[in-house]
Amino acid sequence: MTEFTYTCLARCSCTQARAGVFHTPRGAVETPRFMPVGTLANVKTLTPEQLRGTGAQMVLANTYHLHLQPGEQIVAGAGGLHSFMGWDGPMLTDSGGFQVFSLSEMRTISEEGVKFRSPRNGDIIDLTPERSIEIQNTLGADVIMAFDECPPYPATREAVELATGRTERWLKRCMEAHHQPQQALFGIVQGGVYLELRASAARALAALDLPGYAIGGVSVGEPPELIEKIVRATVPLLPPNKPRYLMGVGTYREMAQAIASGVDLFDCVIPTRLGRHGTALVAGERWNLKNARFREDFNPLDETCGCYTCRNFSRAYLCHLVRSQELLAYTLLSIHNITELIGFTQRIRAAILDDRFESDFARWL
Ligand SMILES: [Zn+2]
Repeated sequence: MTEFTYTCLARCSCTQARAGVFHTPRGAVETPRFMPVGTLANVKTLTPEQLRGTGAQMVLANTYHLHLQPGEQIVAGAGGLHSFMGWDGPMLTDSGGFQVFSLSEMRTISEEGVKFRSPRNGDIIDLTPERSIEIQNTLGADVIMAFDECPPYPATREAVELATGRTERWLKRCMEAHHQPQQALFGIVQGGVYLELRASAARALAALDLPGYAIGGVSVGEPPELIEKIVRATVPLLPPNKPRYLMGVGTYREMAQAIASGVDLFDCVIPTRLGRHGTALVAGERWNLKNARFREDFNPLDETCGCYTCRNFSRAYLCHLVRSQELLAYTLLSIHNITELIGFTQRIRAAILDDRFESDFARWL
């Protein structure tokens, strides 16, 4: 596990923001950094070469979805996730916990694990901490996540306390089941919107000396200002020499605020989902390219962006592709949106290194 280390290069003098490097056997991840999501071993509509061009360093894939289709044995047969999907950089798989709790029907939760019905063929699937680790060991990502219980929002304090305690017990079972030194197991802090539960979970996890820590169970419908409160109450209790990952968050304000509290890594499906709806992230806004105002606008999508889309195509062309529902529209908009969110975290990183983060990003803090 010594191959996974975090180095802090600079700290902001006004906030808890930090710039650093998370070293993995497959390469370095400069932090803070946004990580694109490749649910089914592909970032939707992009080739790995296009993905590399966005500045992506670490990419996510999804244990729940890959277990259902094509099954982890097929991925292993291809030599693992990296060779299966043609991505040689660092990768992370989630544990499947979030999807089991948010997507599946007819699930029953017990101390042992979760039973649910496969939405593909109706089979009953048993997902336990041990099984999640076994699947993730077989998929072969560089960072794997502990199997957790993600309570919904809203939920009573009693329900969240039960889920949080179970998540801690499941983490210990995950650690015992995990025997692949080339994969780093991150723990996940749960606790819903109850800050004292977050704090006690963070303290318990910190004592386990894991190679990295995540804050889960946010962005599940709670008001956005609560995310900042949760992050602020949790991050100071996590070990300073380990990377911190805020799961499922990828909007400008939430990322900037979380970075100000000391978060290093983010992921979200938002850039590709917006792209598939004809929407571009430009200058902190969402532009619907279908809009008639773009029909004869021959400027680049974003003059300040150096991505493949902005270097080669006009707003008018993108408007035409979106209106015609041409598949290229989704690729070009996803390239831009991912570049934009990674670029946002890269610009923040540069600002932290020069100690001008708080002044330059005041708009978002
Ligand atoms: Zn662009």
